[in-house]
Order: sequence, then structure tokens, then C-alpha cells
Amino acid sequence: MESKFSQIIEFIREKYKTPEGIIPLHEPRFNGNEKKYLHECIDTTFVSSVGKFVTRFEEMVAEFTGAKHAIAAVNGTAALHISLLLCDVKPDDEVITQALTFVATANSIAYTGAKPVFVDVDRDTMGLSPISLKSFLTENTTFKNGLCINNTSGKRIKACVPMHTFGHPCRIDEIISICNQYNIDVVEDAAESLGSYFKGQHTGTFGKFGTLSFNGNKTITTGGGGMILTKDDELGKLAKHITTTAKVPHRWEFVHDMTAYNYRLTNLASALGCAQMEQLPNFIVQKRKLAEAYSKFFKKLEIEFITEAQNSSSNYWLNTIILKDKAEQSSFLEFMNNNNIMVRPVWQLMNRLEMYKDCQCGSLENTEWLTDRVVNLPSSVVINL
Ligand SMILES: *Cc1c(COP(=O)(O)O)cnc(C)c1O
Repeated sequence: MESKFSQIIEFIREKYKTPEGIIPLHEPRFNGNEKKYLHECIDTTFVSSVGKFVTRFEEMVAEFTGAKHAIAAVNGTAALHISLLLCDVKPDDEVITQALTFVATANSIAYTGAKPVFVDVDRDTMGLSPISLKSFLTENTTFKNGLCINNTSGKRIKACVPMHTFGHPCRIDEIISICNQYNIDVVEDAAESLGSYFKGQHTGTFGKFGTLSFNGNKTITTGGGGMILTKDDELGKLAKHITTTAKVPHRWEFVHDMTAYNYRLTNLASALGCAQMEQLPNFIVQKRKLAEAYSKFFKKLEIEFITEAQNSSSNYWLNTIILKDKAEQSSFLEFMNNNNIMVRPVWQLMNRLEMYKDCQCGSLENTEWLTDRVVNLPSSVVINL
């Protein structure tokens, strides 16, 4: 196995033209108008939450994703929080999501006071499994008076948050059709899948809401930032209002008409976002080329490399391999990190974290299987691969 591991190091170092030193998992690329737009903010003094770049960034994201409305937020977690609030998720409700996700997904549910319920992911997409969702709902809930009630807790299941893991679209059409049968709202956590499409439609535009993240390790970055996507005009307006302190427009009066949030994205961050959006199409092309090179390489090594499922086009945010078992995963993580190649396993599962360990779970067979085998590889954009 060690000889295979060495070949992997050689391959990655060659792709990144980095014969020695650290190769990070996913670092940003600033090769466009970033400095120009940031200078413009500073020169005009518009660095804070007012400025033309905020609106321009929202318009660029709406245009790129095909979302009717895109509302900037301070980060992806805040975008999820507001989306759930606007689905009317209440403290006594429950929200279904996957255990295999970044902690933000579960945290945003907890912020509303609701409790997460974890169901399994599909083996191939690593995203929420429609089959597991359906069987959880069939076995554990009663649908009466238009509400989906969990038989165990007696609580209402109000929403479902599928996540497009590592950029690979989950089976979102089936998930939405199941949720529709049970009157469950869908918020798509598309934090990782900017530039990924399911049946030709951008991820994050299927559900009642979709959310994006522009954290430093994501496909594009604003330093920190997020976006709420929705096709609903009223909800779009409300999302803007509630993320910007619910201020009633007036030239000098300060009137706020509800308890709301300061989840505004700054003009500085948005300026970075505009420059990054200009480069996004090329980033996706380059990321897909890298994934293709990885895919061919791992085929020769007889190691499974995750490719996009049928009907999907992935941004390959984080390239992923599946190793034989937990022992091989551990030795690979050790070997690569010792050699300054940043690779990592999937996040600690949500149902194993202290604060969520008492949450109800469906069968997590694929989730647990993947946890012991998945490793993410360096995936930063290589310009002109
Ligand atoms: C990055 C990410 C988020 C949002 O993270 P922020 O750092 O708050 O922008 C949410 N969900 C998933 C799955 C993520 O990977």
C-alpha cells in the first residue's frame, strides 16, 4: 500500500507544481479584480453594509444559479438559520437532515429551538437518501390534519435539510416529492455545491430555500459570507428584511418593525464576491479537469474515486476517494499528512457530537460505512491545468 500512497503524493505534487512544502486541502484563488474592487470600497469609504457591491453580488449569484432571488448573508450558517425561520420552524418542531454534514447544518436547526433528526445518505452521492427518508417517514410518523407527526416524540416534522456533499448533487427531485407528500418544507444546504447541477438545474434552487457559503475553503470566497436563494417573491423580500435588522426605509428615522438579525454581508466582502463570481465559470472548468485527472489516475491504482451520479454535474468542491476500511483510511491520513499533503476524513458525524447525541436517527448504514472510508484530497483550483 505504501507504494500506492507514494504514487499519490507524486501525482498531487505534480498537478500542483509543488515539489515540496504544504499542499492545502482547498485554498482560495485571487486572480481577477479582487484588489481593484477592494480599493474601490476603500477609496469611496463604502466598506460596511451599504454599497453597490452587495446588490451587484446578489444579482450575479441570482443570474449564475438561475434563482429568482439571492439575498446576501454574513455566512452560510446564518443563511440556513434565516431560511429555517422563514419556513416557520418553531422550538417544538423537528427537522430532518443527514448526520454526514458540517456542523453548521445541525447548528442552524438548533438555533431555531427545533431538534434535528438524522437519516442516512446515499452511498454514491453521499447526500440525503430519498429511500432512507421515505422509510423513516413511513415507519416513524403519522400524517394527520396536514401535519407530519413523529410517533416517538409527538412533535411535528416541519422541514428537511438535504446537503449536496462535497459538491455532488443529492437526489433532490425525489426528496422534494417525498417532502411534498408529508407537507415538509425543503431547505437545500448548497454551501458546497455552487456550480453543481441536478438535471441541468442549479443546486439550491429546488427547495423552498437554498443556501450557499463563501467561507475561505469554499469554491469561491468572500472571506466569510453566505447567500439565501428562493423563488418566492414575498419570502425573498422578508429574507432581506430580517437579515438587515428589519429597518423600515427612511432617510433619517430609525424604525425597525420586528426583532430581526444583523446578518448583513459587508460591501468589502461583496466586492471580493463580485470579483470571484467573474472567475467562477473558469474555476468550475478547472476543478472538473482536476477531478477527471484524479479519476483516471485512481482507476489505474484500483482505488475508488467518487464521480458525479447520473443526471448530475458536480463542481467537485472536494475530491473524494473511498479506501478499503478504517485501518487503511487511518494509515493513509497519517502518511499523507506526514508528507505535507493535507487530506482529511469526513466530519465527525452529527449524532456522535455531544450536543446531538440524543437526537433520533434512522438507519445510518451508509453514513457509518462512508465515515470509515472517505478521504478528501487537495482540491484547490489549478489555473490552466
Ligand atoms: C461551509 C458549510 C456551511 C456554512 O458555513 P459558513 O462557514 O457559516 O459559511 C454550511 N453547511 C455546510 C455543509 C458547509 O460545508
